[in-house]
Amino acid sequence: MEYFVIPVTAFNQNCSLVWCKETGNAVIVDPGGEAKRLQKKIAMLEIVVKEIWLTHGHLDHVGAASELAKFYKVPIIGPHHNEKILMTSLPWQCQIFGMKIIQPLLPDRWLQNGEILKIGKTSFHVLHCPGHSPGHVVFWNKEKKFILMGDVLFNGRIGCTNLPGGNISTLLESIHRQILPLEDSTVFLPGHGLESTLGNERKTNPFLK
Ligand SMILES: [Zn+2]
Ligand SMILES: [Zn+2]
Repeated sequence: MEYFVIPVTAFNQNCSLVWCKETGNAVIVDPGGEAKRLQKKIAMLEIVVKEIWLTHGHLDHVGAASELAKFYKVPIIGPHHNEKILMTSLPWQCQIFGMKIIQPLLPDRWLQNGEILKIGKTSFHVLHCPGHSPGHVVFWNKEKKFILMGDVLFNGRIGCTNLPGGNISTLLESIHRQILPLEDSTVFLPGHGLESTLGNERKTNPFLK
């Protein structure tokens, strides 16, 4: 498994391209915007996009999903069904943040906790982690000890819970039940900012004390 991170939009959201080294099959995770820039990088890497995966329905994570799904003729997968209201209210989300309007978006398939998704010969477990938003999922590569975390846990903080559908105790429960039982050496890429490890957050993150 290889990956390349491209921060997109004014929110510097970490869109990632993830691919299987053996087959060249790839997924785009959380394409929040800047479709042309992502297409350019994908062409340079000579990888073959098979699917688009979404961790949750906030505009900075989904803004370019429709455009890229059409361009590559691939399905949009995830997040969890509980995100439906947020994703149908995308135009309103954009209004609140004064961003260009994004049309309502529904994926080709919702995800369930415990599912396993494949990219070529590598695979990711789906963990439903509500709290930042109701249908938020994270993608965990057990073999590589790597998590695409979205906005659940960050380097030094946790996801915000003041947006519609957010709930602090639900978020902390998700982190404690789904994330922290995993190994300390697990590296994670959050939706914004720098990577960290679960061990590091366990020791230093003030929200997990
Ligand atoms: Zn978010
Ligand atoms: Zn975000």
